[in-house]
Parts: sequence; structure tokens; C-alpha cells
Amino acid sequence: MFRYLFVFLTIFLGLVFSVHGRSDGPLVIRNVNVVPMDEERVIPDRTVVIEGGKIVSIVDGDAGVTDDQAQVIDGSGKYLMPGLAEMHAHVPGGQDEAYRNDVLFLYLANGITLIRGMAGAPVHLEVREQLASGEVLGPRLITAGPSFNGRSAPTPERGAALAREQKEAGYDFIKVASGSREAFDAMVDAAREVGITFSGHVPGAVGVPRALEARYASIDHLDAYMPTLVDPDETADIQGGFFGFRLAPYVEKERIREIARRTREAGVWNVPTETLMHAVLIWDLDTIRDERPEFRYMPPQIVDNWVDNVRGRRADPLYDREAAELFVQVRLDLIRALHEEGAGLLLGSDAPQFFNVPGFSIHPEMDLMAEAGLSPFEVLRTGTVNPAIFFDEEETSGKVIEGMRADLMLLEANPMDDLAHVREIAGVVHSGNWLSRDAIDRRLESIAERHAR
Ligand SMILES: [Zn+2]
Repeated sequence: MFRYLFVFLTIFLGLVFSVHGRSDGPLVIRNVNVVPMDEERVIPDRTVVIEGGKIVSIVDGDAGVTDDQAQVIDGSGKYLMPGLAEMHAHVPGGQDEAYRNDVLFLYLANGITLIRGMAGAPVHLEVREQLASGEVLGPRLITAGPSFNGRSAPTPERGAALAREQKEAGYDFIKVASGSREAFDAMVDAAREVGITFSGHVPGAVGVPRALEARYASIDHLDAYMPTLVDPDETADIQGGFFGFRLAPYVEKERIREIARRTREAGVWNVPTETLMHAVLIWDLDTIRDERPEFRYMPPQIVDNWVDNVRGRRADPLYDREAAELFVQVRLDLIRALHEEGAGLLLGSDAPQFFNVPGFSIHPEMDLMAEAGLSPFEVLRTGTVNPAIFFDEEETSGKVIEGMRADLMLLEANPMDDLAHVREIAGVVHSGNWLSRDAIDRRLESIAERHAR
């Protein structure tokens, strides 16, 4: 009986796949340890069948698909987890298409299958389609429009118009950079009316309490939190500097818990981007080039600009090493408090930007979240399950479960044992397509060769 069933299935599947051809047939990953990310667990020795960009089945055994009918990957000893999201990405918007395509590939090469583009330009609407169709090799893109700031929205009328125009143009959300309180309020009302969200910086004239009330989708960089952690009278004369780092010596610990609680009550997410803070304020400029071999994948003049820019900031008389060190510690305390209070955290490093090479920068970012007190599983959730919840697609992405999007990462070792294992990528599945380690290495090498001097 089973024998006949098997023969029937073989003929049936053979017919189906001969029509589509092998490359369109299923992708099968055999004997793999599945890390579904729904809870902290590993399901050993599964066969995962992927077709049409989705996970069709996860079964024990060979799934009845033979090697000539499918692209088969041996997953023995390896771990299959969801691809990660970089929630504070930048996609170069200029004319240099080769550079933009390199950046998009660098994300994917690190298992990042979803990026939230934080500085939108009209070209990104097209790039979003090119990525979705597979014309350009990279992660899925969710993109902001050109930012809301003092120039793009100098008046309340322009603030409201910006929200309507970006919704109409098809951008996924509004990036807030700066601006007046009046223009911000008008933008918020119009955004709510037309149904578009906004995320990003919190302008000084807005402040975190108003940002929470206005229901930012996400606050990025923990922007404007520092002033909420100090006594305003005591610090009235202090120039806060980069993200308010010079306020760190005045932080009152009990205020951290309070603002974390209020953030959770408001349902506002945070994308901390800790690496950005460490890059600008902490990391050693004399050794950074040795510590970041991935700089070879960036145009050298960009890396030079990063180093020069940060050197300039550190030479400023307002730079204060002691305050900087306190500041990054306060931020880790704030991240821990947000996490413990149940406020949503999303993984994002801000790349390409100050020493953050796209994709590669997710690793130090995850390490810093772990340092804040999140377990490896909890850190991994900020880049998988949490973005799915954030984008209201919890039923279709962010987990390795039947029916979900096949945006996955195959790792050599268990990422929940050690976040460093996320660096050990055996391959990436993007929209159901397999990208092997060999293919990744070849393209990385060609990018590095182009930039070699
Ligand atoms: Zn940014």
C-alpha cells in the first residue's frame, strides 16, 4: 500500500516539477535542527520543504521528495533559524547603483532578510520592487519616504502635506528627523487620518512624553530619553551633546524604570542602535580598522570619512570620555528596564554608518543587547519575531513554522548557545531561494577586490 502511494507520489511530483523545471522546484533542507523561535527550543532532525517562497512542510524523514526533483541541502548538524531584520538600515539613495547593490547584498550575506530603510528617496520605491522580484539580490525592503525635518516641513501645513504625499506615493512609513512642535503635531494628525505610521528621531521640541502620546511606531537611537532621566532644573545649563551623552552623570536611576514603564504603556517600540553610540563615543580609533575586517567591503573613502568624522567629534572640547562611558552604561540600563517592563525592542544598528558595515554590524549590536541583560534567545527575538509583530505580519513571518515566509538562515551551530554562532552562516534562504556559503564568499571577494587599494 505505502509502496504504491510512494510510486504514485513520485510520478505525481515528477509531473509537477517537470513542468516547472528543477530551479522552480522545491528547496529541501534535510536532517536539520530547526530553531522555530516561537519558544526557546530546537526541533532536531527535520526535513524542511520550501516552495513558492514559503515553508510548505517541516517533517520527520525525507518528505517523499527525491534529489532529482528538488534542490536538496544537507542540513546535518546545522541549525535553521529565521533570517534577521536590520530595523535601522540605510539604503544608499544616490546615483551609484553598484554601491547600492553591494550594500543590499552585504545585508543578505549576513542572514539579514528584512531591512527597514530609514532615509527614503523616490528611488527606493523602485528598489523595493527590484528586491521583491529578485532582480536585485538583497533583503526585503520596507522603506520610509524622505525625512520629516525643518526643511521638508517648515510649517504645520507642510507637515500635514508630507504625511499625505508620502502615503499617496506608496512609502511604508514616515521617518522623523527634526522639526518644530507645530509641524510635528500637524504631521501626526494627518498621518493618523491617512493611515501611515512614523518612526525615528524625537525632535527636541517634541520630547519623549509627547512622542509616546503621539504613538510613534518606533523611537530610534533611544533619542530624547536622556532629558527624561535627569532633573531639568539641575541640568538646565548643560549642553547635552551627541544624544545627550553629557547628561549621563546627572541621571537619576529611578527615572529609568519610570520611563520604561510609560513606554510600555504607550505601546511604543525602540530600536536602540547601541553600536552607533559606541562607534562615535567609545571604540578605539587606533585599532578599529584591525578589529573590523569587514571594512574591506566598503569603499575606502567612506571608511576614511567615518574615522575622520569621529576623530573630529572626539577632539571637540565638549567631548568627555567619562560622561561617554557612563552614558553607554545608562543606555544598557535603560534597555534592560524596557525589556523587563515589556516594552518592545527591535534589532537595529544603523548601517552603513560610522564603522557599521551593513549586515556585519548586527553582530556587535546583538552583543550589546546581550550585555544589557537579554538572553541569546531574547536578543534573537528582537530581530525575528518582534519585527513580525511590529509590521503586523506575525502570522506570516519571523518564525520557522509551516506556512511562513521562507526567509531563513542556516547556521553551523546553535545560535541560542552563543550569539557568535550567528556569524557562522552555511547559507541563506531569501524568499525561498538558496544562497550558498560559496556564492556569498565569491560575491564578497569581488566586492573587496574592487575596493582594494
Ligand atoms: Zn540612521
